[in-house]
Amino acid sequence: MNRISVMKPWLGTAESDAVAEVIASGWVAQGPKTSEFEKAFAEHQNVDHAVAVSSCTTALQLALIVAGVRAGDDVVVPSFSFIATANAPTYLGARPVFADVEELTGNVTAQTVAAVLSEKTTAIIAVDQGGMPLDLGPLRTLCDERGIALVEDAACAAGSMYRGAPVGGTADVSAWSFHPRKLLTTGEGGMLTTNNEQWANRARRLREHAMDVSAAERHGSTLAPQESYGEVGYNFRMTDLQAAVGLVQLGKLDAMVQRRRELAGRYREAFKGIAGLRCARDPEHGTSNFQSFWVEVMPDFPMGREQLLEKLAADEISARRGIMAAHQQPAYAGHSGQVSSLPVTERLTANTLILPLYHELAEHELDRVMASVRNAGGE
Ligand SMILES: *Cc1c(COP(=O)(O)O)cnc(C)c1O
Repeated sequence: MNRISVMKPWLGTAESDAVAEVIASGWVAQGPKTSEFEKAFAEHQNVDHAVAVSSCTTALQLALIVAGVRAGDDVVVPSFSFIATANAPTYLGARPVFADVEELTGNVTAQTVAAVLSEKTTAIIAVDQGGMPLDLGPLRTLCDERGIALVEDAACAAGSMYRGAPVGGTADVSAWSFHPRKLLTTGEGGMLTTNNEQWANRARRLREHAMDVSAAERHGSTLAPQESYGEVGYNFRMTDLQAAVGLVQLGKLDAMVQRRRELAGRYREAFKGIAGLRCARDPEHGTSNFQSFWVEVMPDFPMGREQLLEKLAADEISARRGIMAAHQQPAYAGHSGQVSSLPVTERLTANTLILPLYHELAEHELDRVMASVRNAGGE
């Protein structure tokens, strides 16, 4: 029996051909393909500016810098997220302050954020966890009232929708990941998007050592212009090799979302009679790309989360524990940013698990996962 993996990127010869073309062109670092990918991504996400970077983590760091976050500030983040969300403010000397999440989506809400705001809060990072869209309207209102920046960690959420529009556009600045654990992949890679032209231009410079003339521009002119460095920048560039893959992947994104939503629907249908199993589902305000399909193992399920993981493993099915809680990790143990209890975060992180879901998941594999879970649930 083949082991079923929890995820697998959807890659093919179109991607390898695109990389071969970039190699043949002789320009492999950040250049024309990266610009092309940025334009295509901005158009797909319906935002004015997209700046390609090396990862979502670096995109988050730049997002906070362009939003004006400084050392000593407070930045509200969910603890219930991949640890990069909390790390981004920490890199700047700002303090991540943990907000709890709602149980339906696993996302922060205007209420959970408002509960932990301080005089020092200058930004919040709200996450579309596992692709579940945030309820951005109330968060937008809260941030406008308080004059604080709304940064969206949309790492997992390319293809997720909020009230009929792509997520990401309601925030002041958004960050995306192209790690293979997400839908659209470039191996490693990320994107910063914003409708603020000044912020986009600053991010563009900062990702390239804060040089005022990009390497591509310098290379394109015979008489090389003299560059200058207005502030301390970074090397957060994406390569044209990655961007070429990204362009092909972007063309497949809508099909990926459609397939994932279909598979998530099949799981939900198969599990609806099982007592004690709560499945991820769309909130009223939007649709998920189901980057992760999680289930919560409730007290009336015949076994606990760890036992269910063991049962799936015995059936040669890879599942994963649900989203981590940053405040429970050694890196943030005893951290002053835990200003309130986080009961929903702690419940979800202890009791959820992620089931296999990817574009090329075969029918017989889907059947095996469904049978294993149903069997564990006493059906
Ligand atoms: C994956 C992920 C990140 C980090 O993305 P990288 O591209 O690997 O840096 C950040 N935030 C969330 C919510 C993620 O899921």
